[in-house]
Amino acid sequence: MVGLLDRSGTRQMLREDGSLELYESEAEFRAGLSGWAARERFGIGFRHVEGESLAGLQPGLSPRFVKGTFVPGWKTVADPKLLGKAVWAYAQSKGARFEMARVDGVAADQDGATLTLADGSTRQARHVVIAAGAWSHLLARQLGDRIPLETERGYNTTLPTSAFDVKRQLIFSGHGFVITPLDTGLRVGGAVELGGIERPPNFNRSKALLRKAVQFLPGLDPSGGRDWMGFRPSLPDSVPVIGRATRSRSVIYAFGHGHLGLTQAAATGRLIREFVLGQTSSVDLGPFSPQRF
Ligand SMILES: Cc1cc2nc3c(=O)[nH]c(=O)nc-3n(C[C@H](O)[C@H](O)[C@H](O)COP(=O)(O)OP(=O)(O)OC[C@H]3O[C@@H](n4cnc5c(N)ncnc54)[C@H](O)[C@@H]3O)c2cc1C
Repeated sequence: MVGLLDRSGTRQMLREDGSLELYESEAEFRAGLSGWAARERFGIGFRHVEGESLAGLQPGLSPRFVKGTFVPGWKTVADPKLLGKAVWAYAQSKGARFEMARVDGVAADQDGATLTLADGSTRQARHVVIAAGAWSHLLARQLGDRIPLETERGYNTTLPTSAFDVKRQLIFSGHGFVITPLDTGLRVGGAVELGGIERPPNFNRSKALLRKAVQFLPGLDPSGGRDWMGFRPSLPDSVPVIGRATRSRSVIYAFGHGHLGLTQAAATGRLIREFVLGQTSSVDLGPFSPQRF
């Protein structure tokens, strides 16, 4: 990811102010200790904090939080949408081209693939990468691959930056949401809703998160927010599908990154490049196989 940020001139959009996970009781803190021990084995730095050190890391927190864990190396981005657009601008400067259309049909053989667009026109390509998020399994099914992709819908509200001075990402694991300071606002988000790809959003969920945020940061101004719902594409084993379609080497799948698509996209992109160039993969791709289900 950092390599791509450097190449695309977006490194300044990476925020390196860490994260603070918060606990409401000693019991909740203790329940998380085995997870922290596992992170320690992988060399991830962290510090458990309480009292003044906790208040120093995030002034204005409700006293209901008795302990926290600070992870200095945790990274967030200044604004995911602006980062995505900036990386795309870099891709375009390298020759990538954007065409907006709905793909209704995909067919493939060993020499290439044909896409049929909603207007009835077709596009042919030697390689096609299916990276259609929560809708990807619908295209894969046309190629004979049945992949148990579901969506974990998530919600957030982005408040004006003036809503509260949040120093770093705050994680309320016990409540399933986070508060993230962006350059463009303060984002209160989380939730997992198994609501499929058709149903309209239920913004009562984002409102519920916002009500909790006001309890947890009593000085927070909840007005002027913008609600949003998005589709996380998730698989039963929480591992993405990265690999070739069963019937054709011309189609490569890259989807199912669940909660971590932004984090993992650059690494997946590198693996896809290796597929397209016919190179030996730099990692064991077995766990990512589309044929594993
Ligand atoms: C609530 C929420 C929280 C998240 N939090 C994090 C986080 O903390 N960390 C992190 O790293 N990532 C996070 N993510 C990112 C998440 O992992 C990605 O959004 C996910 O992996 C999907 O990304 P994608 O680019 O594959 O798909 P999308 O961004 O969904 O893009 C797929 C595109 O394919 C298009 N498409 C689908 N079908 C067709 C078709 N037939 N024809 C043409 N176009 C089609 C869709 O319109 C869409 O534009 C979060 C996402 C959400 C929704």
